[in-house]
Amino acid sequence: MEYKPVIGLEIHAELNTKTKMFCDSLNDPDEKHPNVNVCPVCMGHPGTLPVTNFEAVKKVIIAGLALNCQINKGTFFERKNYFYPDLPKGYQISQYQKPLCQNGVLEIPNPKSQIPKKIRITRIHLEEDAGRLYHLPGKDYSLVDFNRAGVPLMELVTEPDFESGQEVRKFAEELQLIWKYLGVSDADMEKGQLRIEVNISLRPEIPNSKFQIPKLGTKVEIKNLNSIKFAADAVDYEIKRQTELLDKGEKIVQETRGWDENKKATFSQRSKEEAHDYRYFPEPDLPPLKFTDAEIAVIKEGMLELPVQRRARFKEQYGLPDTDINLFVASKSLGDYFEHVASELLSFDKLAHLKKPPVDEQGKLFKLAANYIITELKRMAEAVSADPADTKITPEMFADLVVRVFHGQISSSGAQTVLKEMFETGVSPEKIIKDKDLEQVSSVGELEMAVDKAIAENRQAVEDYKKGKEASLKFLIGMVMRESKGKANPQVVAEILNQKLK
Ligand code: ADP
Ligand code: MG
Repeated sequence: MEYKPVIGLEIHAELNTKTKMFCDSLNDPDEKHPNVNVCPVCMGHPGTLPVTNFEAVKKVIIAGLALNCQINKGTFFERKNYFYPDLPKGYQISQYQKPLCQNGVLEIPNPKSQIPKKIRITRIHLEEDAGRLYHLPGKDYSLVDFNRAGVPLMELVTEPDFESGQEVRKFAEELQLIWKYLGVSDADMEKGQLRIEVNISLRPEIPNSKFQIPKLGTKVEIKNLNSIKFAADAVDYEIKRQTELLDKGEKIVQETRGWDENKKATFSQRSKEEAHDYRYFPEPDLPPLKFTDAEIAVIKEGMLELPVQRRARFKEQYGLPDTDINLFVASKSLGDYFEHVASELLSFDKLAHLKKPPVDEQGKLFKLAANYIITELKRMAEAVSADPADTKITPEMFADLVVRVFHGQISSSGAQTVLKEMFETGVSPEKIIKDKDLEQVSSVGELEMAVDKAIAENRQAVEDYKKGKEASLKFLIGMVMRESKGKANPQVVAEILNQKLK
């Protein structure tokens, strides 16, 4: 028997609103101390009343629209009742019967074909987060921090459409990007702003048969996965574990498991019997939520660019290769920096002191800029944990350098020196090139003497080259480069050498 993995995700993301979901305590991910952003409402004091934060509602609608969801124009909150020390009210305000968004879809690359795979989104609903417990090693008490209690949280649930850890990874990465791009969540997994739960079962399959076993297998839920990689690894581990059990004729137990990153294995946490009855009922302290089509249209109109749109635009506008585009989309700050440089190259307003390259060579300029941003700038900025935009190299200076490289005024190794110097000092390329005497010599007149000298002093290499040894030309170019102290334009040198040795 073969098995087909059946996997569905439940993903929680904290929204990056200014204040909490039902009160005006701040929603600050960088709190320095516990229990500073709390008030009687989020502490669940008797007699207090919640008030809906519409910034949060709007963000969930935006998230839903981005995933092609249907938006429920009439909905309401419900109470999910359970006791836990991090839940001051003894219930969580959530949505159950009618989520804000439902029936969406997100496409992910399909390893098996060119046509992307569609992952169906069951629902996205809005709720509030709980506080955080700290279990101190060796102590017989725990501490609780309520800063997070009442922070707006959206929960997204997918249909069981995934088949592998790889697909789960692709989906989660794209979702994380989408939420960051739309500004609905910072989606930082290290800060617990994005949390993934994986549901997984195996379905026996008869190889090469058109008959499918109708029922889904018993599922296992893996909770508290705090990195996308762990989620993907946990999926792959469970596929193996469940396959082995089924092959031995054993049954899968419906249970919640955790991921042990040290052992690279899942482990049982609790079984189905301990499942909660949450006794959901409509929240009596909050009015229902109602929207018009016009209101939703206005929200849609104001939506920021999605990663998928940026990919298409970068391809069309700048003609960059996919690997560059993926990098500029995955790192929005790097992509933004590239766009600023590109806009300087296009307008040429601040570059008027330089010779303007022909319009049909613009693609080459963009590619040059992309190369230096992806290799040099990215590395230097990361080394000091700075955003590219916050470095001393302005997009204008960067564009200036790119044009000089294009014209051959400076060599590629010279450009690296200039970039390093600009990064450290913020001095203009023009001044650095002058001060460091980096200008590349491209005039035939100036280079001819050095070429003649190399030919005269290296007769053997000349003979070898004439006999067809290509490497000897490289050697001769190297000799000229050395003579010029690295300032000669190697392409021009090669041309003169070719001419003279014909
Ligand atoms: P529960 O009530 O146990 O939380 P749900 O029906 O709400 O279960 O589904 C939770 C998640 O589990 C969804 O992402 C869904 O796609 C997925 N799921 C449901 N049944 C299965 C199954 N048999 N195997 C794998 N995933 C499943
Ligand atoms: Mg569940």
